[in-house]
Amino acid sequence: MQFQQGRVDLHVHTTASDGSLTPAQVVRLALEQGLAAIALTDHDTVEGLAEAWAAASGTGLEVVPGVEISSDWPVGDFHILGLYIDPWDGPFNECLQSMKAARLGRARKILERLAALGMPLEWDEVARFCTGNCAIGRLHIARAMVQRGYVSDVHQAFQRYIGRDGPAYVPRLRMTPVEVIGLIRRAGGVAVLAHPAASGVVEYIPILASMGLQGVEVWYPDHSPEDVRLLFQLARQYHLLVTGGSDFHGLESGAGAPLGSVDMPLQVLWQLQQAAELARQPEERSVFSMAL
Ligand SMILES: [Zn+2]
Ligand SMILES: [Zn+2]
Repeated sequence: MQFQQGRVDLHVHTTASDGSLTPAQVVRLALEQGLAAIALTDHDTVEGLAEAWAAASGTGLEVVPGVEISSDWPVGDFHILGLYIDPWDGPFNECLQSMKAARLGRARKILERLAALGMPLEWDEVARFCTGNCAIGRLHIARAMVQRGYVSDVHQAFQRYIGRDGPAYVPRLRMTPVEVIGLIRRAGGVAVLAHPAASGVVEYIPILASMGLQGVEVWYPDHSPEDVRLLFQLARQYHLLVTGGSDFHGLESGAGAPLGSVDMPLQVLWQLQQAAELARQPEERSVFSMAL
């Protein structure tokens, strides 16, 4: 069956987390590029949504409410997208607030370690890269390091200092994938495993599916055609939805793929909408209250 190719991007970051364009700027860019829908999936926050919805109002562009939450298992890093999440859900927001506090504490510890390594940074220098209500994270610290000339680009900051094996790395207290899936589903969202091949966690898809995962991000800039085929096959086997997105972070070099650069069938959005419709039912959500 041949599907119409839609211009949809279901994985997009803004200045509400570590992207470099504001939600309104991202909406304008999406309109310029003729996209039909984007999902805002900022890390641990839904604070960019109001601005994006206001900017998209009356334009025909659909802005899907979303979030991306990182979770940890000893076997690896699992990023989980919550698409069509209810941004006003009380317990969900409380949880995001406590995650934000933990994230700020971690950023301060990283700055202490960098200072001990002879690379001091003022809090305000880093905060300048994090406008609005966003929570300071490693990418903001990396940008401040570039500005001070400690490193030549963001990639080098991670590779030499603040990445997982770097001397200024501080681990983060995180939820398990099961807790994140529960949190998202309790808030009426569709839980989708982000970039599984790029994260090297494809083999855990079956177990996550048994724990309530509803979809996998198949189309992604770093996924090879073989990855796409394998993920598609796994999705079919475990009755999971398929999604895709660029993981857009901004226009500067090194920020990653351009907005709307991942081509996928428009069918993806329709199936997601149907799943979200079901996910909003109170009985569906209550099953996952226990996970909180
Ligand atoms: Zn991610
Ligand atoms: Zn992302």
